[in-house]
Amino acid sequence: MDFQSLQIMPEILKNLKRTGYTEPTPIQQKAIPQVLQKRDLFGCAQTGTGKTAAFAVPILQRLAQAPVSGHPIRALVLTPTRELAIQNYDNFRLYGKGLPLNCCVIYGGVSQNAQVQQLKKGAEILLATPGRLNDLIGQGYIDLSHLEIFVLDEADRMLDMGFIRDVKRVIAQLPAQRQNLMFSATLPKEIRSLVDSILQDPIEISV
Ligand code: AMP
Repeated sequence: MDFQSLQIMPEILKNLKRTGYTEPTPIQQKAIPQVLQKRDLFGCAQTGTGKTAAFAVPILQRLAQAPVSGHPIRALVLTPTRELAIQNYDNFRLYGKGLPLNCCVIYGGVSQNAQVQQLKKGAEILLATPGRLNDLIGQGYIDLSHLEIFVLDEADRMLDMGFIRDVKRVIAQLPAQRQNLMFSATLPKEIRSLVDSILQDPIEISV
């Protein structure tokens, strides 16, 4: 199977080819068509399986194919660590090069000023860690009322690092009508109950 048969748009195909990806990994083959069809999805997958492109590629395509003016935040990807948030940001920029979509990354441990300046420019795609996101929501810098797609990445690490309360606080701010994607390397019972509470009629993929 190649990326073309997954109905990926030409601009993104070009970016994937330039990145050196010739064929989709198993999680990409299974997840991309489902995300494009707006299904909720749970992916049980480790880092290294290609899970980032499995959600980034169809999210970019969905947003690019239904443009909205004014750069509202349309997709939010929550990750447990700053390194992962930056990695996700780099990947979205790589796969989405040339598309009229802005990305912004926010995380704790550094001054918020540069991040606030970026937010003020407007971004369709926000990559964030939960603590800093809640801080900036509390200060009125972030409007999630136009959100279409929510991704909870590395949910089990979120739990291990004690971020679940922060995550739930974020979720309480999101519009009820949205697509939800969740990824976790393991499936302890706390994650199963999160899946059941966050996702609606999800496709479940395990690789
Ligand atoms: P991830 O699991 O998303 O952290 O990706 C693991 C690594 O695989 C990253 O270095 C990606 O750049 C790479 N990768 C993702 N998808 C593909 C693909 N379809 N072909 C080759 N490499 C890939």
